[in-house]
Amino acid sequence: MPAEEIVELIDIGANLTNKAFHDDLDDVIRRAQDAGVSTIVVTGTSLDASERALELASGRAPTLYATAGVHPHDAKTFTPTTATRLTALAANPAVRALGECGLDYNRNFSPRDAQLDAFEAQLELAAALGLPLFLHDREAHHDLHTLLKRYRTRIAGGVVHCFTGTLNELHAYLDLDLHIGITGWICDERRGLELRSLVRDIPAGRLMLETDAPYLLPRTLRPAPAHRRNEPAFLTHVLAAAAQASGRPAREIAEETTRTARAFFGI
Ligand SMILES: [Zn+2]
Repeated sequence: MPAEEIVELIDIGANLTNKAFHDDLDDVIRRAQDAGVSTIVVTGTSLDASERALELASGRAPTLYATAGVHPHDAKTFTPTTATRLTALAANPAVRALGECGLDYNRNFSPRDAQLDAFEAQLELAAALGLPLFLHDREAHHDLHTLLKRYRTRIAGGVVHCFTGTLNELHAYLDLDLHIGITGWICDERRGLELRSLVRDIPAGRLMLETDAPYLLPRTLRPAPAHRRNEPAFLTHVLAAAAQASGRPAREIAEETTRTARAFFGI
């Protein structure tokens, strides 16, 4: 889009506490703002990372917000104390969702039983705190959907972040009135094809955009930066690919997804 047409974007998931951003975080945030990405929700992926995400985001609204949660990779570290400490973090108004939490049966860095227990504990927390969920599903749709269905009436909502599933999985989540987050996966000319074909099926008011930085550098970046690090400024590439895949103007998608993110996170 030409510069004068840049509309406000919200990156609903960036791992800004990752060491990849250790040296130049202020520049990264400035570049995001220059690109129209006015707000970034910093993902908390473990208790430590959630504490750091909150430290970063606290008092920096409306530029930064945070989530607090334990990723399925770290599920084996989840104890009752973890729940207590997450509750304390969530008392800060900068924390706008519970997560990243969910199930990852692709890598199984934590045993499945531990993943299921940690996820259910965080579903309970989200219900008690009235916070929406920032959800991770990797090859675990069946179990994730089953648990979400069981808790759906008690939780405020949820976004399945970095959605890369099938059309049936998409509709199962939409039928539970959940939101869908898409990343630079959609910019991948090979593995993003299925996502491109189903983005039209995501209704207005259910789609949000994210970079998942520093991961998932959009493959549409030319030239690709040598360091391969993704950053929130590149959200414009996710927007462009989503617009192209859905056959709709980028400006429309930008306005819709920003409005949706504001309502979802209450920001
Ligand atoms: Zn994830």
